[in-house]
Amino acid sequence: MLPPSDADNVKVAVRVRPLNKRENSYPHQSSANFWSITPTSITQYVDSKPNALHSFSFDHIFTPDATNGSVYETVASPLVHSALQGINAVIFAYGQTAAGKTHTMLGNADDPGVTLRCLSQVFQHISAQSARTFRLRASYIEIYNEFIRDLLIPSNDNLKVHQNVATNTVYVDAHNKIVTSLQDVLKIISAGEAVRTIGATNMNEKASRSHTLFTLTIESTEIPQPSSTTAAPTSGVAVRTSTLVLVDLAGSERASSTKAQGTRLTEGGYINKSLLTLGTVIKKLTSEKTNSAAHVPYRDSKLTRLLQPALGGNARTVIICAVTPAILHVDETLSTLKFASRAKHVTNHAETNEFLDDRAKLRRAERQINALKKEMKK
Ligand code: ADP
Ligand code: MG
Repeated sequence: MLPPSDADNVKVAVRVRPLNKRENSYPHQSSANFWSITPTSITQYVDSKPNALHSFSFDHIFTPDATNGSVYETVASPLVHSALQGINAVIFAYGQTAAGKTHTMLGNADDPGVTLRCLSQVFQHISAQSARTFRLRASYIEIYNEFIRDLLIPSNDNLKVHQNVATNTVYVDAHNKIVTSLQDVLKIISAGEAVRTIGATNMNEKASRSHTLFTLTIESTEIPQPSSTTAAPTSGVAVRTSTLVLVDLAGSERASSTKAQGTRLTEGGYINKSLLTLGTVIKKLTSEKTNSAAHVPYRDSKLTRLLQPALGGNARTVIICAVTPAILHVDETLSTLKFASRAKHVTNHAETNEFLDDRAKLRRAERQINALKKEMKK
């Protein structure tokens, strides 16, 4: 591996969606200027008090008029660029149910989401350059009640997490489909979405409880240029490998342990272990008392095991926290903003994942043998 390109804080963006009809007609909504939103700060006021109750600042706050296009350009596109250079990239959407996670990640025909825009950037980049060959594979999985299901082979609904000790990476044995065009990937996404809908008795309820992870594995090799005999001898066959992971998380209200306590017995599975653990992992990573990765409980949930590189590891990460400005949901919005404030202090160490492939190793060995032979003839 090459040395670290940068020690990179997790980037956190907050996206405030427009009020919906129900929220807008709530009697107290119009009388209070509850949230004051600027591109870098979000402040809570209660109309009877002149002072702000809470104020948060972030690198990027998207106001209700922001489009998926501007979210993509500001926070997602730089990560796709990194992924194309061999750096792992993870983008995930966090927030309470109906706050706008899926709108942000998948979007609609009028305003395609971050996922489609990122994938389209990948294919545009590949077709516009001639210096490297690219191989792409895609997988799509869902974590539901701590079971990992392959959305491409739905009968595989209990995938295991494996660890590759040599490369210090964690993976699931999901189907990894080779893709060569944007259409290929879009087919995978729509097939995966259909599987999620078919299995659910109540789609909204299921969407609010499950996490989906779309992974594009990008492998690229520099094409040896015949004229460039002066190039570094091994540069022609060094392989870069990275993953671009796009995550739509379960509704963050599922992470509220206080709520879960009362309902745990009557409503099995209400508590979302993966989200609770995500919160704990972020707390530990940003706590001054934690001085070793051994204290961070990544292994306590499927989600945190799979997202370990994104949280304090070898990846560049953006978390898009979706919130509603509705008074009705002020507690959940506050809880999301507090999560977001902690998450922005997580530090990652993203590296360019570049390895010599077997041919390169062979050629290098041949060169060394030839050099030795020459030496011996002298
Ligand atoms: P979540 O995935 O967080 O549960 P959704 O993305 O499904 O929430 O959003 C809930 C509803 O609000 C959907 O009808 C969606 O179209 C709408 N919505 C969410 N965010 C926006 C936005 N930024 N602009 C317009 N409509 C939005
Ligand atoms: Mg959703």
